Amino acid sequence: MSLQLDQLVPEHIRLFDPYRPSPPDAELMRRYGLDRLHRLNNNENPLGPSPAVRELLAGIEAGIVPVYPHGDSQNLREALSEVLGPDRSRFLVGNGSCELISSVVKAFCEPGDNIVTADKTFAVYEWVARFSGIEARLVPLTRDHGFDPDAMLAAMDGRTKLVFVCNPNNPTGAYWNEATMRRFLDAVDGRCIVVADEAYFEYVERPDYPDCIRLLDEYPNLVVFRTFSKMHALAALRVGYLCAGEDVTDVIGRAHVAYSVNTPAQLAARAALLDRSPFVERTRAMVRQGREVIRAACAELGFEHIIGEGNYAMIRTPISDTLLQRKLLRRGFLVRTMTGFRFPNWIRVSLVERPVLEEFRAALTSLFR
Ligand SMILES: *Cc1c(COP(=O)(O)O)cnc(C)c1O
Repeated sequence: MSLQLDQLVPEHIRLFDPYRPSPPDAELMRRYGLDRLHRLNNNENPLGPSPAVRELLAGIEAGIVPVYPHGDSQNLREALSEVLGPDRSRFLVGNGSCELISSVVKAFCEPGDNIVTADKTFAVYEWVARFSGIEARLVPLTRDHGFDPDAMLAAMDGRTKLVFVCNPNNPTGAYWNEATMRRFLDAVDGRCIVVADEAYFEYVERPDYPDCIRLLDEYPNLVVFRTFSKMHALAALRVGYLCAGEDVTDVIGRAHVAYSVNTPAQLAARAALLDRSPFVERTRAMVRQGREVIRAACAELGFEHIIGEGNYAMIRTPISDTLLQRKLLRRGFLVRTMTGFRFPNWIRVSLVERPVLEEFRAALTSLFR
């Protein structure tokens, strides 16, 4: 029997080049002969999760496993409402915020529609649009590596359903302040949905950085995404959420798979949210120190770098990023290559504990001095 796969597969799937995750740590360690691997590639928080969450996870009984989770994460949404303000009906919880990107595209886009975002940002917006058969309009960043509001407005047309604004931007750390965000939302004037992806919200310490959840009542077309993967250090459990007006949340919920968030994830996210320990403050202090270490390393080596908000830094390297990735792996550091993100020969490095970054700095210095 022969299978005519090409005749079954839509062109937008045939032409799509999927993301290839890095191999498991144990395999990398075997391949590179390492007894330790420092993961600097995924913006994870090595201090976490917080002690309260650790305790909760340690106490989870296998007896909860035969039972389906809450299909709509009700208890977690109640905690979100308690801590953040909006009614629980305005929150939607997903299997990581990546699932919510997919749900929002499914809810609003049909063939012929388009989305608008930046060319050098979190790639999942573009990928989900493209493998869904939806055009992704990618607008170049400004010279200071931020989203360009005027160029994005110019890229919009009558078929633009969604605009994704990564605030602060992964990987550059640039952000729109509240005035810029408001000016953009005023200019969009409700013509399409604007998603503010605040995956790094808890890391930003700038007074002019907008908390978009507080803008929701003024802008009914605004959708705010957050995640438990980054600051709260629950990346393995896959929990993210969105907050929007009740009508918009209801529409996105129709395109969203119920039961996609498992029980340990719901419980841990709720505990992380309600935890008032100094964990978040300790993480912010770690990241502030990390920025200094990377700045000093780049100054010493004469490397161009981009460091903004968020727990990551970008470094421009004089050799190919894939070659440098391999050299750094041999020394026990896994970094993110950025050529695929339209930053040829840049690497992105997560800002982790100071001693680890000092070792990283020594490794870089020994490679390039
Ligand atoms: C990490 C990240 C996410 C979230 O990922 P999930 O783990 O799927 O919640 C979303 N947006 C940006 C910009 C990120 O960097």
